[in-house]
Amino acid sequence: DLHPIRRALLSVSDKTGLVDLGKALAERGVELLSTGGTASTLRDAGLEVTDVAEVTGFPEMMDGRVKTLHPMVHGGLLALRDDPAHLAAMEQHRIGAIDLLVVNLYPFEATVAAGADYGTCIENIDIGGPAMIRAAAKNHAFVTVVVDTEDYGKLLGDMDQHAGATCPKFRRRLAQIAYARTASYDAAVSTWMAGAIEVPTPRRRAFAGTLAQSLRYGENPHQKAAFYTDGSDRPGVATARQHQGKELSYNNINDTDAAFELVSEFAPEDGPACAIIKHANPCGVARAATLKDAYRRAFDCDRTSAFGGIIALNQPLDGETAEEITSIFTEVVIAPGADDAARSVFAGKKNLRLLTTGALADPRAAALTVRQVSGGLLVQDKDTGFVSPADLRVVTKRAPTEAELADLMFAWTVAKHVKSNAIIYVKDGATVGVGAGQMSRVDSTRIAARKAADMAEALGLPAPLTQGSVVASDAFFPFADGLITAAEAGATALIQPGGSMRDDEVIAAADDAGLAMVFTGMRHFRH
Ligand code: 5GP
Repeated sequence: DLHPIRRALLSVSDKTGLVDLGKALAERGVELLSTGGTASTLRDAGLEVTDVAEVTGFPEMMDGRVKTLHPMVHGGLLALRDDPAHLAAMEQHRIGAIDLLVVNLYPFEATVAAGADYGTCIENIDIGGPAMIRAAAKNHAFVTVVVDTEDYGKLLGDMDQHAGATCPKFRRRLAQIAYARTASYDAAVSTWMAGAIEVPTPRRRAFAGTLAQSLRYGENPHQKAAFYTDGSDRPGVATARQHQGKELSYNNINDTDAAFELVSEFAPEDGPACAIIKHANPCGVARAATLKDAYRRAFDCDRTSAFGGIIALNQPLDGETAEEITSIFTEVVIAPGADDAARSVFAGKKNLRLLTTGALADPRAAALTVRQVSGGLLVQDKDTGFVSPADLRVVTKRAPTEAELADLMFAWTVAKHVKSNAIIYVKDGATVGVGAGQMSRVDSTRIAARKAADMAEALGLPAPLTQGSVVASDAFFPFADGLITAAEAGATALIQPGGSMRDDEVIAAADDAGLAMVFTGMRHFRH
């Protein structure tokens, strides 16, 4: 049913559009009730307002913790207008109906984002606001609730269409938005508290985010999509500054995240590193003495796939690297920074997005990953597993040389960021073959070797770069066939978790081929 709006309660922290809304409501004959700061703003604009304190008979008290928490307010919001007992209660207690509630909450998320201290964050948890929002939304059969300044126009539009009333469909939609707001508000509080008291546990957590961007579409053009941020200040795609280029797409955000998380494994003080990502998997990762060389070597791993890729760098982008990058089409470059020379090289490339993050992400920082399945969410600790050379167990007759060991560690780090089954060939600090996402490990081993052979042909090299390479496998080899394929491609050393029923067979095959093999005791599945 249409429900006319005669009496409104306005209580907003964000005063954007408030005066215009107050005027528009007053012009439509609506009586305005308001809390302290909101009332002063409206009064200053010459509007007539009743203080909530006058309605409740209590002053706003305890630093504003208690303003609207009172039956005169909540009765007015919750009473069923078609229930004689409710109407009788209103009459008996002189409770006036509230037809419209306009509330936006204490800026809790912004307070946390600004780095406020614990006590200030606590004070910015709104109590009365969510209580009123939830009450009004529950009673949306009669009450209109607006929690977003962007909906003021729609409210007035609906009222004007219905001679000062709102229609049920609109009220119901607003109620849904209202509960989305209170849910994400409390989720933000819970997430902040979990961080503040350091309980990075997947259990008993609330999930919600703040709408950061309405995306043009999702993975495919027929899918609607949006990007929600969780308020974390972790350097990365969600907090990066975009300097140029059109808006990031759904796939761009996903791939840029994968690229930056991978490159963040390589501390800047250990030298330049570059990762190129396609479809969330690396098609080249390399370290070198200069950033330009790191990019070039990453590019040389799989030039075909690198086209239209996403590049992440572990050091600020410089002019000569930028110059090199622009020689082919790239979607996104993300780096801790970019110098003036780099910026001016990119300025001519309007379609290339440049993102800077200020710093690398900490790959050891505890966090959660969330994935949706039909009917629920799967939540787990982020894979921050790490092995150092001291954790490795040599299982073959031959131990890896120092050079092999360095490449094995590099390959293992990359393997963590490749979809399973992951097989990574590495030579001299650069991937030379990546086998990703296959349903059998031996296929990943073959595909990576074949791609390396193709690249050698394209580059006019005498032999594939897998000759004299090392190999990482994200999980154990279930049979010796994968290892034998790697040996045939020219690999001389292997790193893998171990733990297969047939480890003995696999180790024997490695010894037969003269390979050095180390076990990590930890796997890096990524699905
Ligand atoms: P004002 O600027 O009008 O003084 O305060 C507006 C803010 O107070 C709004 O964000 C509203 O959600 C919040 N608010 C309204 N009633 C209560 C209450 O009873 N307790 C608390 N903590 N906040 C309230």
